[in-house]
Amino acid sequence: MTQETEKATGYGADVFGKDAIETYLSKDTAKKLQSTIREGKPLDPSIAGEVAHGMRHWAMDRGATHYTHWFLPMTGSTAEKHDSFLELKDGEPVMQFSGKNLIVGEPDASSFPSGGIRSTFEARGYTAWDPTSPAFIKRHSNGATLCIPTAFCAYTGESLDKKTPLLRSMQALDRSVNRLMKLFGRGAAHTACTLGAEQEYFLVDKEYWKKRPDLVLAGRTLFGAPPAKGQQLEDHYFGAIPDRVLSFMGDVERELWKLGIPAKTRHNEVAPAQFELAPQFEELNLACDHNMLVMDTLRNTAEKHGLKCLLHEKPYAGVNGSGKHNNWSVSFGGRNLLDPGSDPHENAVFLTMLCAVIAAVDSHADLLRASVAGAGNDHRLGANEAPPAVMSVYVGDQLAEVIERLAEPAKAAGRKSRAAGAAMRIGVDTLPAIPRDATDRNRTSPFAFTGNKFEFRAPGSSVCCSGPMTVLNTIVAEAVDAIADELEASGTAGKARPGEHTAAFHDALQGILQKSLEAHKRVVFNGNGYEPGWTKEAAKRGLPAAPDTPSALAALARPENVSLFEKYGVMTKRELESRREIFLEEYAKKVRIEGACARDIASGMVFPAVKAEYLESVRALETAEKSGISSGAAALRENAAALGAGMDAMAADLKELEAALAGGGEAAVISAMRSLREVVDSLERRVASSRWPLPKYCDMLFLY
Ligand code: ADP
Ligand code: MG
Repeated sequence: MTQETEKATGYGADVFGKDAIETYLSKDTAKKLQSTIREGKPLDPSIAGEVAHGMRHWAMDRGATHYTHWFLPMTGSTAEKHDSFLELKDGEPVMQFSGKNLIVGEPDASSFPSGGIRSTFEARGYTAWDPTSPAFIKRHSNGATLCIPTAFCAYTGESLDKKTPLLRSMQALDRSVNRLMKLFGRGAAHTACTLGAEQEYFLVDKEYWKKRPDLVLAGRTLFGAPPAKGQQLEDHYFGAIPDRVLSFMGDVERELWKLGIPAKTRHNEVAPAQFELAPQFEELNLACDHNMLVMDTLRNTAEKHGLKCLLHEKPYAGVNGSGKHNNWSVSFGGRNLLDPGSDPHENAVFLTMLCAVIAAVDSHADLLRASVAGAGNDHRLGANEAPPAVMSVYVGDQLAEVIERLAEPAKAAGRKSRAAGAAMRIGVDTLPAIPRDATDRNRTSPFAFTGNKFEFRAPGSSVCCSGPMTVLNTIVAEAVDAIADELEASGTAGKARPGEHTAAFHDALQGILQKSLEAHKRVVFNGNGYEPGWTKEAAKRGLPAAPDTPSALAALARPENVSLFEKYGVMTKRELESRREIFLEEYAKKVRIEGACARDIASGMVFPAVKAEYLESVRALETAEKSGISSGAAALRENAAALGAGMDAMAADLKELEAALAGGGEAAVISAMRSLREVVDSLERRVASSRWPLPKYCDMLFLY
């Protein structure tokens, strides 16, 4: 029986997609545009005029008066500069949008971070339409804007955004995969990377948020004692979603569906007031853009519900942080290469890709780590319930056994194996069935194989997916090429039709994969990544672990990494250098903003409250002593002394923080903030709740 389905009405209504293209463009132009989109090619200039015209009509029918080239600058958020369709033609006001305006824009780019690529005298930047990500309508309470997703680069052609390198990395992977698949006897086809980005976030009541300068300015709480109940009972995960939150989620999904974003799953996360939204996976570039819109929509919709959406990686100390699990896979000609498949030939392709990914992660763990570095994620990587800062690959028990049988057939043959036993022979044996859920139990790995895709769990909740995905595509392209090099050298490839490979080809492949696994299997770890023992074991295996952002970013300057990006045409040395500079600067600025904010809260809000409490205590003590009643005096004395000592400690820590902010490095700021926080959090328990100037964790974390 065929499943009955129903068209989802309104889905994609605000996207210039298939329906709009067919309605607003001529048949011929529509066809050309569709094939441009499908093949990821640049727009044919001869149709640009008509496309722009149709797009404007479509947008104006939806209430738009303006258009903008929407792009992803290095700030990590999105950028837009609106222009109206209005033109004066011989004094007559007309609405117009030309093909030229559609294809390129020229915003003044001088205030976007460029890491030295663009000096102010050549402040021009260019945006170029990326037809593979469709135009969409962004609404506000009193109108709408046509948004055209674009790449953003400098006058010199160097990229100033997060989209350009991603597109280049996709091309690189496409080239490598095509080359490999040709050796497997396949004709040329399109390689599509796919991404499903699970987005975690916290919600907090806006009234509390307003009273917390740390949340307003830094996105996370810089102070706050742990509440009596946090996530100990683990009763929030997958719990019933409170009505207030459900109504928010419903609104978010309606908005996303209009934008053609397939929001699919919603649930409570582990920490109280923490939630997750997962869309169905899409083509990578589109999914990255969509995730930016998901974050926008979460933030905007929260406002309408009297809430604030916190996308910071660690809004609260002591409870889980938020990540953005990047589910990634690669398909070729429509077939997912990370799907084990059903026959020995498909299995061979799968095992080749699996080995390539393992080799890639092992060879460039430092780059993957760098791709998820940031001030926010520093609080999350390695902390409670988060993947550790060591990059390792989880493959699950069944695959681990397959790998072992593949890598060391002699050894595997000699021992009693759970599955059929002996060596695994490529091209001859089929893989045992690998149930998807069995591969997905381990949530502690930063990079896990989950049945037919890899899930990169280290990216932080606030970041743009493009950075980590650019690195992943590039390192896998290199690993695929390394295997293709050896296959080519073996002289056994391309001698048979698909599915009819010679035994010599399979033997050669087996040898190549064995060698690769031998060199790289140290990165495979199927145990519990949160156990302290793993960090030690990882060090023994020689796996790198960069504890913080500055040390992680050092990877971007390593010569072998520079040549990797240059070789694959993903980033030039200068582009890479500029990015490192931008990320380091962003890190330093964020840490300093937090430091200054902590200082201001401590000295302007907390200290006066402690002082008032102290005075009251001292006065009460004096009164008690005068009254001649001896009971209570000891408690009051102890309390006043503790408050006094707290003030002394705060004063000392504030001095240290001030000095660090004035002339110390970021590490000094962080350390001063940490010790200031300890004092303040302990005072929180001493000072009357009615007097405490900040909403407490127990207020903020329980929404309902
Ligand atoms: P969880 O990791 O919470 O168990 P799921 O297994 O449902 O969740 O999948 C998480 C995400 O992975 C979803 O966004 C889903 O669309 C995506 N996904 C599934 N298959 C692929 C694939 N082949 N490529 C990329 N993402 C995928
Ligand atoms: Mg997941």
